[in-house]
Amino acid sequence: MAVSDVKLKHPDRLFIGGQWVAPSTDRRFGIIHPGTGELALSMPEAREEDMERAVAAARRAFDQGPWPRMSQGERNAVLLRWADAIEARADDLANAYSTEIGIPISTTRYTAAALPGILRGAVETARAYRFVDERPATGGKALVTREPVGVVAAIVPWNFPASLGLVKIAPALAVGCTVVVKPSPEAPLDLILMAECLEDAGLPEGVLSIVQADRDVGDRLVRDPRIDKVSFTGSTAAGRHIGAVCMERVARVSLELGGKSAAIVLDDMDMAQVVPGLTRMSTLLGGQACMALTRVLVSEKRAEELEAGLAAAYAAIKVGDPFDPATQMGPLATERQRDRVEAYIATGKAQGARLATGGGRPAYGQGGFFVEPTVFTHVTSDMTIAREEIFGPVISVLRYRDEEEAVAMANDSAYGLNGAIFTADQDKFHALARRIRSGTVAQNAIGPQAGLPFGGYKQSGIGREGSPEAFDLYTEVKTLYLAA
Ligand code: NAD
Repeated sequence: MAVSDVKLKHPDRLFIGGQWVAPSTDRRFGIIHPGTGELALSMPEAREEDMERAVAAARRAFDQGPWPRMSQGERNAVLLRWADAIEARADDLANAYSTEIGIPISTTRYTAAALPGILRGAVETARAYRFVDERPATGGKALVTREPVGVVAAIVPWNFPASLGLVKIAPALAVGCTVVVKPSPEAPLDLILMAECLEDAGLPEGVLSIVQADRDVGDRLVRDPRIDKVSFTGSTAAGRHIGAVCMERVARVSLELGGKSAAIVLDDMDMAQVVPGLTRMSTLLGGQACMALTRVLVSEKRAEELEAGLAAAYAAIKVGDPFDPATQMGPLATERQRDRVEAYIATGKAQGARLATGGGRPAYGQGGFFVEPTVFTHVTSDMTIAREEIFGPVISVLRYRDEEEAVAMANDSAYGLNGAIFTADQDKFHALARRIRSGTVAQNAIGPQAGLPFGGYKQSGIGREGSPEAFDLYTEVKTLYLAA
């Protein structure tokens, strides 16, 4: 497998309303392979007119088409056929993800293999979901029903596009919504390959569009009164803007945003056991993961031991060609992202944090957007690298005096997405985890999993995806009063 193996069935067309149609202009996006900095392939870029067609098709399909009115079993059958077709294209999906974002092929094979499970999981959830709940009411009874929210705009970031797209598309389609997906221009390939997999699934016309476009066209989508609900994953800055636009017209909105998640390491742990899991959970997708554990809080007593272990583990990470199965970390996704991460490293040094390892560019991969896995120690909560999301392979170790201070430090963040407490003591875990203000807290290095709620407190977002709770995001509640 290599970059050149990515083949699109319709390289000059856009996927609008379930059809492969000619774009309104001849503008194209270049997909740059971050491992080399070279152009891998190009794709048509959607403009306002194309987005207009996608929204009109979705609105028509919702208001007049069969999809919202089909039985749950019929919709489930379509989703299951789609899951099977995606499964058959797993190698292509892995290859495309490594091409556009530079995530190592060993990881992208794993994430591609998990995609059908997102659709199958949504079908399972739909079978068990309470679409109708009978409740007592004065003079008769009430049926509390859940109906599809309508036309959904799903806006997806570049770091994990197929999975983050599908966790929106799957529940939305399962409940009967129609969907317009806007992938990010850096990473539309995987979502377009998944659209190709729909060919024989039997999805009615208009129900799904996947329209790669820039943020200005995305902004038009968010403002369009025909869109009932916006489901956004991306940066907190963009989410804040999109949330405000939606509130202006009282559109439904859910936001999955950034993170600066803390791992509290308690003294009962053997640091040699902490290091591998912590390294894994802090370097997910080369650190370009919203859920990454990027602030490590350790007691003054045990700090040196953990810092030395983390520095050794980070220094040993095999950085290299994303298509080499032995590579553990690839480049950053874009040149802009590499520049951003390097600027944070410079700020960390300038503000007095100490570099335990990394901080520069590795010998491998000139031309690509590589950064060395980097560990900062002696970081304090007021430093920029402890407060802002870096979105790269940079971890900050902070020292606490006692557990009270550790909890306060973990919560001293604008974000509240993920978290971990490394301890063998179950009671201690429960007591401390309840005090952490974040959407997920794991004992040791267990990562968030599809099928269980995921989302943020505070500026990490609004709403929970990847679970039955996600169905609430794509439904409206209607109460029917029945006379006795
Ligand atoms: P981004 O906010 O720049 O862009 C995300 C998507 O939104 C892209 O498709 C972009 O084109 C679009 N967009 C941006 N501004 C828009 C606007 N005004 N109107 C409509 N669309 C707009 O984020 P990114 O750089 O692509 O992704 C990285 C960020 O995403 C990080 O902050 C990361 O933490 C976050 N993220 C969060 C989660 C989560 O589940 N909480 C998951 C992955 C990534």
